[in-house]
Amino acid sequence: MPVFLNTRDSDFETQFTTLLGAKREDSPDVDAVVAGIIADVRARGDAAVLELTEKFDRLTLTPETLAFSAEEIDAAVAQVPEAEAEALSLAARRIRAYHERQMPHDESWTDATGARLGWRWGPVDAAGLYVPGGLASYPSSVLMNAIPAQVAGVKRLAICAPTPDGVANPLVLLAARLAGVDTIYRIGGAQAVAAMAYGTETIAPVDKITGPGNAFVAAAKRRVFGKVGIDMIAGPSEILVIADGDNDPDWIAVDLLSQAEHDESAQSILITDDAEFGAAVARAVDARLETLERRAIAGPSWRDYGAVITVADLDEAAALSDRIAPEHLELCVADPVALSEKITHAGAIFLGQWTPEAIGDYIGGPNHVLPTARSARFSSGLSVMDFLKRTTLAQMTPEALRAIGPAAETLAKSESLEAHGLSVRARLDRLNR
Ligand code: NAD
Repeated sequence: MPVFLNTRDSDFETQFTTLLGAKREDSPDVDAVVAGIIADVRARGDAAVLELTEKFDRLTLTPETLAFSAEEIDAAVAQVPEAEAEALSLAARRIRAYHERQMPHDESWTDATGARLGWRWGPVDAAGLYVPGGLASYPSSVLMNAIPAQVAGVKRLAICAPTPDGVANPLVLLAARLAGVDTIYRIGGAQAVAAMAYGTETIAPVDKITGPGNAFVAAAKRRVFGKVGIDMIAGPSEILVIADGDNDPDWIAVDLLSQAEHDESAQSILITDDAEFGAAVARAVDARLETLERRAIAGPSWRDYGAVITVADLDEAAALSDRIAPEHLELCVADPVALSEKITHAGAIFLGQWTPEAIGDYIGGPNHVLPTARSARFSSGLSVMDFLKRTTLAQMTPEALRAIGPAAETLAKSESLEAHGLSVRARLDRLNR
């Protein structure tokens, strides 16, 4: 059973705090396993990656077969039915159009002293794109990772996508081709993240690792941060739906299940100002779970992490939503725009009952790689910016140095950093000669 909370209950705060801490994604047991895997890959390179792939994905590879060959990609791409290929191309076009608008501009100006100041943006050299593939396969995640990287101008892109039992989804390979990525390693989990961060005999290290994954992938990205950049923590999926009583309970039920079916560790929460509607949605979830193809995953997720919270009004719902800082937030209320303006922390907001979150997973245009485990408090969904770095620029003229150099010298003295002061003074002395 999911938990049923009501903000009027005297123990609401205790129960809500337990709910906030329930997700397994940043738990010490997962982190300990991941630390061991990363150490093993650093120490033994390819040999460790191959053994771990055999253990977790039941797939025997050699260094030569770690990546798909061009012939394998050609053969897979040829098998994709036309309707799926067309849907994927439409998704690619919409995702590209959305992300092209994110490209930031360089800035440069001359201030009152004559100093020229500014910054310029440039791409990272190499990015490793994680595309999950343990319990489901995600051609959509190939597009969501690769298109912003390409819009940013990253020169070298490599994908890691696990292929359990060696069964590759041809659509994943087609998506990679559509996005122009031809290095695709059939490995996953913490071992793939470690290989991309530290490199092995076969896998060249990258500068930045992006992409979603399960708890092991999320923990591995946390651990390699610093050696490489990461986009954010994009672990097991979450959905929070805020709905008033004027909705079809079955629509909301399938919206909740659309994230629960990703992973037993996924979390789906409904907040409503109508307790009877909340109960109706819970009944509709149970009814759907009787036949849902992925009930073996969605059922435990809903039972262990699901919640229905009844609030007094939508203001209370907005305040609780900010404390949850959900990855996906659906607002199925009469005035979703007004409610969205009261919300600060959410990875992606879906406005109104005609915008099911699944549109955002595939075709809307915005990125579906989004912060989980409450990290939307401080991070954002994957974007072109994740593949760019900003370099600042400053150019003094003699006049500008004469105007602001003495203050730098003063500050250097106050920090007891003599050489700093001298490097300014040497130039000022020349100007004063
Ligand atoms: P995955 O590729 O993330 O994980 C599969 C890998 O996990 C395996 O290759 C294996 O190496 C590793 N693994 C599994 N069990 C392990 C164990 N006991 N010990 C060590 N390693 C282990 O694929 P998945 O499992 O299907 O998960 C995909 C995840 O991505 C889901 O949780 C889904 O919710 C999430 N997701 C998140 C977003 C987002 O933006 N936040 C988007 C899409 C998907």
